[in-house]
Amino acid sequence: MSQSIQPDVEPRTLRAITQTFSVLPDIGRAKGADDLYLVVSQSGKEYLVDTRDWACECPDARHRDVRCKHQRRVALHTGELDVDELEEQLATTADDLESSAAELEQQAQELAETAVELHDAIERLEEVA
Ligand SMILES: [Zn+2]
Repeated sequence: MSQSIQPDVEPRTLRAITQTFSVLPDIGRAKGADDLYLVVSQSGKEYLVDTRDWACECPDARHRDVRCKHQRRVALHTGELDVDELEEQLATTADDLESSAAELEQQAQELAETAVELHDAIERLEEVA
């Protein structure tokens, strides 16, 4: 079992796609600025994303050296993150995970069979002793 079964896709990218956000390029604090986007989450929280240096106000972006889900959502909006490429990556990853799952099922089956054999051996051992 040396093969990695972890998804090959950044969880933040998945959240950027699957969570509900509004990307507002020209409203509030982003009004009149080409590089600023206001990202509003479903709960109504607002984060200003600056595409010049890919900065975001959220704690994830400020405290970790990563591109947060808001930045990724804006990157999808602006086309910097290629949708087709991402779709292909997600499909490949899903295929890989399905293969891993099938492999793990096979291994689980083998382990269960070995456990049955061991229980048989224990019963025999009691008869022999
Ligand atoms: Zn953010």
